[in-house]
Amino acid sequence: MPKRVYNFSAGPAMLPTSVMEDIQQEFMDYRGMGASVIEISHRSPEFMEILDRTDALITELMELPKEYAILYVHGGARMQFAALPMNLLGRSPSKTAIYFNSGNFANLSIVEAQKFGKVYVAGSSETTKFDRIPEFDISTFPSDAAYVHLTSNNTIYGTQWKQFPTDTHIPVIMDMTSELLSRRIDYRQFGGVYAGLQKNLGPSGMTIVILKKELLQTKKEKVPSLLDYAVYEEKHSLANTTNTFAIYVMMKVLEWIKAQGGIDVIEANNNKKAQYLYDAIDQSDFYQGVVLPEHRSCMNATFHLAKPDLQNTFLSEALEHDLYALKGHRLIGGIRASIYNAMPIEGVQTLVEFMNHFEKHYG
Ligand code: PLP
Repeated sequence: MPKRVYNFSAGPAMLPTSVMEDIQQEFMDYRGMGASVIEISHRSPEFMEILDRTDALITELMELPKEYAILYVHGGARMQFAALPMNLLGRSPSKTAIYFNSGNFANLSIVEAQKFGKVYVAGSSETTKFDRIPEFDISTFPSDAAYVHLTSNNTIYGTQWKQFPTDTHIPVIMDMTSELLSRRIDYRQFGGVYAGLQKNLGPSGMTIVILKKELLQTKKEKVPSLLDYAVYEEKHSLANTTNTFAIYVMMKVLEWIKAQGGIDVIEANNNKKAQYLYDAIDQSDFYQGVVLPEHRSCMNATFHLAKPDLQNTFLSEALEHDLYALKGHRLIGGIRASIYNAMPIEGVQTLVEFMNHFEKHYG
């Protein structure tokens, strides 16, 4: 057995061990073809089957109605920070895009959208150092709004939207990069969602974009073809050579989610893991949570040590217990445990045992 640590990386993040083993097993010879899945054409029947199966699994797990297009778009999630306004503001630059500033990536999405049109920031939690989800009041939204954008899970700060400003006629689009398929969500209330694959779904560098077909305008003259969502829809994401490996891995991860029992089982496990970790933080004065409890993320738990000078010791001793990548993002420091779908409860238990042991020794 190769060595496997409990990997708390925020992304690229750990994938389920059984998925990794399955991929390793068929890597050299995909289904008796005598060639690897990364060596066959993106237009081969074998890859078309992978693409169709991925579509079917997404449709099933997200309970998506036919009105939504499923697109596999090049580049990471940040590419969509530009692609989204290009596609949705492009035709009507006189309209306004509504954004919420709930953290670093939300802010980057605002900066990018401002390059393409008018942006109205309808809420921000910057003044409280992003320790909460911004408040919102739909009645303040401008009447010429093209769409509302929000970041459903803030990977760096560890906050998560629990309620969404969807009772509006304006399409709401969410960056769900660090949480897609981690909890039950009724996607029919949204204009669309997107997620870089590298946390809950597969390798980095590709994004899944789910968009209501009515928002897919016809091809746009000024938008590069490979950023034009209408082109992806028309060509079934095969306008050029797609990232076949990323889609293949995603298909395997989606099969794994289904085999676990689907979204409700995944969500229950995620809640259990998060509760276990947050209880440990709350029961101790040695560890201090970074964000308001009611806004805490079930995917990224952030906390500080009451004695910050012990942080490097904490991290190096954690590594000795095979607890990897717990260092908080440089913007907030401290500790961040990313506990995406693939993190087993044993990983969180091992972390909590280590935290208790560390506190006894140094507290
Ligand atoms: N949005 C969120 C919420 C993220 O967590 C990240 C990366 O961690 C991004 C966007 C950027 O993704 P990428 O690096 O794939 O562009």
